[in-house]
Amino acid sequence: MPKKKQTGKDLALERKSGWEQLKGKDKEINAYSKEYISFISGVKTEREAVSYIKERLKGKRGIYSIENRKKAIAVCRKGNLPLSEGLRIIVAHLDSPRLDLKVNPLYEDTDLVMLKTHYYGGIKKYQWLARPLALHGVVIKKDGGLIHIEIGEDEKDPCFTIEDLLPHLAGKAQYNKNLKDAFQGEKLNIIFGSIPDLKAKDGKVKKNILQLLHKKFGIIEEDFVSADLEVVPAGPAREIGIDCSLIGAYGHDDRICAWAALKAIMDAKDLPLTTIALLVDKEEIGSEGNTGAKSRFIEEVLWEISERFKEDSIPTKALYRSKAISGDVNGAFDPEYPDVHEKTNAAKLGYGVCITKFTGSRGKSGASEASAEYMGWIRAILNRRKVPWQTGELGKVDEGGGGTVAKYLAEYGMDIVDIGPALLSMHAPFELASKVDAYATYLAYLAFMEEK
Ligand code: MN
Ligand code: MN
Repeated sequence: MPKKKQTGKDLALERKSGWEQLKGKDKEINAYSKEYISFISGVKTEREAVSYIKERLKGKRGIYSIENRKKAIAVCRKGNLPLSEGLRIIVAHLDSPRLDLKVNPLYEDTDLVMLKTHYYGGIKKYQWLARPLALHGVVIKKDGGLIHIEIGEDEKDPCFTIEDLLPHLAGKAQYNKNLKDAFQGEKLNIIFGSIPDLKAKDGKVKKNILQLLHKKFGIIEEDFVSADLEVVPAGPAREIGIDCSLIGAYGHDDRICAWAALKAIMDAKDLPLTTIALLVDKEEIGSEGNTGAKSRFIEEVLWEISERFKEDSIPTKALYRSKAISGDVNGAFDPEYPDVHEKTNAAKLGYGVCITKFTGSRGKSGASEASAEYMGWIRAILNRRKVPWQTGELGKVDEGGGGTVAKYLAEYGMDIVDIGPALLSMHAPFELASKVDAYATYLAYLAFMEEK
């Protein structure tokens, strides 16, 4: 029985805006956002994220990083207790929805040279038309040499685009069709050039473009076979709103969580347990492959740190005793489409970091779910540290849903729950996050690392 008589106000759940809860912290929120905006503007692929993080950690004492094929990275710090007591792990993903170049991308049609793509992850295809796009990635040349490509970000660079049909003629081809059929993946071709080689007999533009590519980068057409080239929205992230309260950017999902995890592991004062920020690839296509969360990279990381810390530990035993956060974004309540949400359980922009007890869809299918006990522990540390937090479920029960990497780490028996900010326009080329939610995510991750 509670000793003190509770007022009605204490008994009912009432959520306050994150701005109200963090009143007086504008300076911290803006400083955090400024650094994040510069990160998210410059880092647009998983490879770029990994090389940024390696560079950032150079000379940082006591922080180790273990890399997986330049596309995933584990950032580790030793805790006070031995590995056999378990770890604290925050896993987030570095890949974002985008358009990948096909293996044979170059073709010419009607005196335009274009690059064919195959989209990666869940995109709404029409959002990628008629907007500036940039090309990022690497090419392994015939002689085995690697070259980095980044075209379209610098103001002096040209950029690329996908053309869209004029409205005057779009009746049959687009307006009268279902949205799903009106825009086809096969038409997501990048306009790459249009000046012909006047000496050539046929394929004149393609010949000119190939000469240009060879002159600029030393590459030949076959080199596209050994390349990871990604087409992403061109241009930097921006502050949004007259009050500058939001951040518009490509790739908040999920680099907003990866950034928070990296900052937290660098800033944490005292770590009770060895802590890992596990930043993986391929979440957007089901965590497949040797750089995704299904790759068992975490076991390799455990072997490596046991060796480094000179501790005899069995990875699966340590992982079973671990606590984890799956740092990923959720969809915020959308005022233009209220019907897809269940208002009582949807996260709101600006109300702090969002805890998602379970993911999955239609009867919790494919879900990872945190237990009452683990939710209790998480909630207690966030309350103790006064971190603005809320809960969120992605959409109405039968509306759809989605998963994260949580279930692949849960396979080791660790406790894990999804915690990250809620976004508007999730998976769009320009996603929206609230500054206060981004900062609350960092505070939550810091609390998770430092609290017993
Ligand atoms: Mn995600
Ligand atoms: Mn996603």
